[in-house]
Amino acid sequence: IDKARKVYPMTIELKVPDIGGHENVDIIAVEIKAGDTIAIDDTLITLETDKATMDVPAEAAGVVKEVKVKVGDKISEGGVIAVIEAAGASAAAEAPKAAAAPAQEAPKAAAPAPQAAQFAGSADAEYDVVVLGGGPGGYSAAFAAADEGLKTAIIEQYSTLGGVCLNVGCIPSKALLHNAAVIDEVKHLVKNGIKFGEPEINVDELRGYKEKVIAKLTGGLAGMAKARKVDIIQGNGQFVGANHIEVSLTESAQYEQAKETGAKKTVAFKNCIIAVGSRVVKLPFIPEDPRIVDSTGALELRQNGGKLPEKMLVIGGGIIGLEMGTVYSTLGARLDVVEMMDGLMQGADRDLVKVWEKMNAHRFDNIMTNTKTVAVEAKADGIYVTFEGEKAPKEPQRYDLVLVAAGRAPNGKLCSAEKAGVAVTERGFIEVDKQMRTNVPHIYAIGDVIGQPMLAHKAVHEGHVAAENCAGHKAYFDARVIPGVAYTDPEVAWVGVTEEIAKRDGIKITKAVFPWAASGRAIANGRDEGFTKLIFDAETGRIIGGGIVGTHAGDMIGEICLAIEMGCDAEDIGKTIHPHPTLGESIGMAAEVANGTCTDLPPQKKK
Ligand code: FAD
Repeated sequence: IDKARKVYPMTIELKVPDIGGHENVDIIAVEIKAGDTIAIDDTLITLETDKATMDVPAEAAGVVKEVKVKVGDKISEGGVIAVIEAAGASAAAEAPKAAAAPAQEAPKAAAPAPQAAQFAGSADAEYDVVVLGGGPGGYSAAFAAADEGLKTAIIEQYSTLGGVCLNVGCIPSKALLHNAAVIDEVKHLVKNGIKFGEPEINVDELRGYKEKVIAKLTGGLAGMAKARKVDIIQGNGQFVGANHIEVSLTESAQYEQAKETGAKKTVAFKNCIIAVGSRVVKLPFIPEDPRIVDSTGALELRQNGGKLPEKMLVIGGGIIGLEMGTVYSTLGARLDVVEMMDGLMQGADRDLVKVWEKMNAHRFDNIMTNTKTVAVEAKADGIYVTFEGEKAPKEPQRYDLVLVAAGRAPNGKLCSAEKAGVAVTERGFIEVDKQMRTNVPHIYAIGDVIGQPMLAHKAVHEGHVAAENCAGHKAYFDARVIPGVAYTDPEVAWVGVTEEIAKRDGIKITKAVFPWAASGRAIANGRDEGFTKLIFDAETGRIIGGGIVGTHAGDMIGEICLAIEMGCDAEDIGKTIHPHPTLGESIGMAAEVANGTCTDLPPQKKK
């Protein structure tokens, strides 16, 4: 291969790359056959050593002429897997394929690449890596780049690092949810003969607790940045060319509130990582009123006339809305929720959501699915909302508080990316390849701004990949799956192929369920409403998905993620000794169900 010219000969032998010195490794799967058209990074074969399984990806695209191996063969580095006819002279320049559907949904519309602006000014500082945005994606990328020995800066407009997640997202919501869960748990104890009085809630102190949690974590990040010599430039950064960002310096007393000081600074970079995140979607017909809040406003636990709301509407039945609804409900509010889709918590299988719905029915007066909000009017005695659709009440409804949780929009259009030549889609997403590179090779993008799922753990992993590439490594975002968790009570967690995805995409699966009604620990905890479900590929027997509903489901789903990444089958999981009595045991037991016998359940019918 003439790498400089990126020209391939007509036929190419695809060989086993460096596999860490392993010799004569078992081939346990062959994913290609003669006649297949393959793209760069498509899996050719899967190898199994005594330690792990690994997929061998294609280094070139083309049509498979001959497959030289079969399942059961042994192979070493340099062994020929297949001969392909190259897809054309530019095969090597072809963009790597987007990650597998369950792991990452790529932004839809392809964006045209703009011409970069020419910047003729001088820079106040120069860096190997400049990270635009200090959220979980941004700070993780910056810290990883610094750990690689690169001179790194973060540009962040607010005074703390951590972005949405630490300041107004994941962490403060969990600080409040923890308190709500304890209050609810204490109420459950009545049936065990333990009765406490009604809780006396000091909202100011509860808010103070949440603020302390945020301060501890953001303070920790500032310390870690300092320890790594990562410069933090506080201001709003806008690209002025393909290697320069102009920063309008800001002062900010609070997250999401910044004032420009009037001073500016220009920074030059060899590599840049765009990590500008996302913002709340505003609905055009909703008036400005302190009784109408987004997730940030809801986290502030504002009181009206010294009282928390008694009647609350959540617009949007996704995770963020339902988590905040849970908090307010435990603090005394009656809830309504309106959702345009046919069910709450979209993405999770309905059997999981049903368990949550049953446990939480007592919080709601009205769950309006297949229904839209069409008008909102602020009056002296409350916010009046009109609905349209399947479950819409005829008259406008009155609420003390309305939470708008109708989704988040990417910030790609708010940093003048076009001046750097970076393509941004109509909706504001920035498209990247599996190395997190935008269409401008030395500029990367990560996190919420590159697409769904908009989750902190995705942003962090993408940040690491981008940083490693800035340091000259060849890193790829190759995760098979990204888990999703609703930290409600009970928690709902899912990963990989769900039953809904399998049905939609015609994937043949087998599933195995372990009901927590048979879990010693769940019964001892008085919380046996949940279940653990594993989903296997019917042909290979490997685990490809899973879901858990129950207390601590979010803490446990990681094991299923690892099993999927490692290519485990039911025997691997079922024969792994899980500690007893734990909720995590339910994963091993679900795998035993898949294997045909689980001694903690009645005998299964023979298939
Ligand atoms: P962000 O966190 O959005 O950070 C981007 C940063 O860039 C911001 O600080 C912004 O100020 C800065 N910035 C943007 N433009 C500029 C500019 N031009 N100049 C300077 N600075 C700029 N995810 C989970 O995984 N688990 C959860 O439990 C969870 N709970 C959530 C709860 C709520 C209420 C919300 C709102 C979100 C939650 N999320 C959760 C989502 C999570 O917060 C995001 O996925 C995550 O923060 C995205 O990280 P990011 O680095 O891409 O961007």
